[in-house]
Amino acid sequence: MDRVMYILVVAMLLSWLILILHWRYVQGFRSFIKDMKRVSCRIKQMDFSVRLKKSNSAELMGFVNNFNSMLSSLDKSFDDIANKNRQLDAIIKSVSNGIIVIDINNRVYLINSVARDYINCQSSGKLEGLPISSIVKNDQLLDFIVYNAGMNTSISKEIKCVSGRTFKVKIDPVKMHLKKDLVISSVINIEDISERIRLENIRRDFAANVSHELKTPLTSIQGFIETLKANDESIDPATRKRFLDIIDNESSRLRILINDILMLSSIEGDIVLSIERVDLRKENQKILDLFQDKMARKQVDISFEYNGVESIQTHREYYKELMINLISNAIKYNRPGGYVKVSFIDDDDNYSIWVEDNGIGIGEEEQERIFERFYRVTKSRNKEIDGTGLGLAIVKHIILSLGGDIEVESYLGRGTKFKISLPKKQ
Ligand code: ADP
Repeated sequence: MDRVMYILVVAMLLSWLILILHWRYVQGFRSFIKDMKRVSCRIKQMDFSVRLKKSNSAELMGFVNNFNSMLSSLDKSFDDIANKNRQLDAIIKSVSNGIIVIDINNRVYLINSVARDYINCQSSGKLEGLPISSIVKNDQLLDFIVYNAGMNTSISKEIKCVSGRTFKVKIDPVKMHLKKDLVISSVINIEDISERIRLENIRRDFAANVSHELKTPLTSIQGFIETLKANDESIDPATRKRFLDIIDNESSRLRILINDILMLSSIEGDIVLSIERVDLRKENQKILDLFQDKMARKQVDISFEYNGVESIQTHREYYKELMINLISNAIKYNRPGGYVKVSFIDDDDNYSIWVEDNGIGIGEEEQERIFERFYRVTKSRNKEIDGTGLGLAIVKHIILSLGGDIEVESYLGRGTKFKISLPKKQ
């Protein structure tokens, strides 16, 4: 009897044990399924940083480890792709040209902010997905894009807008596939070439003006030399002297002109400027010595006001050149008995230099143009006064290269004041 009881007790204990083990197994499996549900929801939301919890079961643990390491690899790959995309986006957005990428249906696939500005797009909203025809308002540009997009060859064209800006638009074919379908067809590269065209025009005009200005005195010199050679005996001494004086004057004009042209091109070519402390009184005395004769002839008086500014940090030769040009003009375009006043002012971050005269003055409409190369105010008014029309262009170039600024204030018949400001830190 005892034996039977014993067997029954052991059997009961074993059943309990089996039941407990089964219950634990089922619980473990349930929590694994629950965890799997949680993880799959996060993966659906493209969150690959999620991981499965560790399991007590050895079989499940193997699966959990493999699954988690697959998630780690996915997480890293997506991170790499996102980083690459961000870099690419930043590169495209930072290029100085306008870039528009369109798909095979002529819809915007990508556009950078420069292109938005160039096509004069007011909206800051998303343009991707919109038809190109709804965002490009310039007919010439739109026709060019629509007609050439999707072609197999690159093509470019210069397009002038009503705003006056000129763009070079280049369309390059690109073939990009999504699965098997062709999705992207063209990259439109828009470059603003307005400044380049403006500089080319200036250069062309300058070259034409230089040849014209050089030709005039040369033709005159050649003419008088030929006359002197052909009629050597018959020309009386007084006429010969007059002819030689003209040749002399024209040669000087030529020399001044060539010096001014060389000066202009040397300022343009100077990349590194040698800056030093310039003693104003000493330098101005040297400049004044050059004008003693001219001032006496014209009866023009000159005065300097230093207001405590005894020296400035600048390029010595440039300072001399700009002051010579401004003072020479202030004497040249003055009246007998007139004055020239040069003042130096300490203006916190800048030095101000004012060159003032009470001469003939410059009309308001001409004040904007006097800094252009070869521009001389109404020829009839100063045909008596020698000049190349390059002096103020040189002054402006020097001041710009020193990081400064120049303004003019003038009233016809009352006088002119040039106000220069030069930064103290060059
Ligand atoms: P220019 O060799 O003719 O003097 P600039 O470039 O120095 O050439 O000056 C351009 C024009 O500006 C001059 O032709 C002159 O008409 C005018 N101008 C310059 N400075 C003065 C001034 N102080 N008073 C009146 N007119 C001036």
